[in-house]
Amino acid sequence: MSTAPSTVLSLAHVSRSYRDGETAVAALDDVSLDVAAGELVAVMGPSGAGKSTLLQIAGGLEPFDSGQLYVEGRSLGGASAGTLAEARRKSIGYVFQELNLIPTLTALENVTLPLELDGTGTREAARIGRDALADVGLPDVDRRFPDQLSGGQRQRVAIARALAGPRRLLLADEPTGALDSRTGEEVLKVLRERIDAGAAGVLVTHDSRHAAWADRIVFLRDGKIVDVTDGGRA
Ligand code: ADP
Repeated sequence: MSTAPSTVLSLAHVSRSYRDGETAVAALDDVSLDVAAGELVAVMGPSGAGKSTLLQIAGGLEPFDSGQLYVEGRSLGGASAGTLAEARRKSIGYVFQELNLIPTLTALENVTLPLELDGTGTREAARIGRDALADVGLPDVDRRFPDQLSGGQRQRVAIARALAGPRRLLLADEPTGALDSRTGEEVLKVLRERIDAGAAGVLVTHDSRHAAWADRIVFLRDGKIVDVTDGGRA
């Protein structure tokens, strides 16, 4: 199977179940989803619907039982740990609810660390990192440590880290969870700008107001896509 050139993420008939004692719980059941460059898809649904499982599979963080996963046209189903790690570093930016910023590194170092781990030289990584921080509206925080930044600024640093360099798939799990509503809106605006600039995004959210930033909203229940509607940007 091949995917359209603009398709950044493609899940085809993906299923994943967990064993719970004697029974198997279907966390995802035959889910298919394509997300193109420039497109933001919001994923909503009740607790236990499979939202996090979907995002983690899309990000190459969780294995799945059947189906296909393509990121930027590359098949990742059954890929080796090394191939998955490379795809995560090169193609996939993941914003976790817990930001996972390293407290002993400056904002810039937090953004450049994954680039340097991937072999980018220090000077080039710093250039890319400063650009990424400027892109999220933080041109002046390079040397500050996470505890010297506001919650909204820390979230922006995490987004800058997720999208620094050429990565084109942005996966965000409740990225505004810990933020007040005004700061949350600012963060979504930054996400949207990055997607308008050519990335593809999947946003897991409980908040229907956040879906206003999406092109499409996918509703999950019991591991299945039960509805797809236009988002506020469609
Ligand atoms: P959501 O993010 O929508 O709350 P999840 O993807 O976390 O849903 O979970 C979907 C289903 O899979 C739930 O029934 C959950 O209990 C189950 N599940 C998720 N992760 C695991 C795991 N590591 N072990 C066992 N069951 C799991």
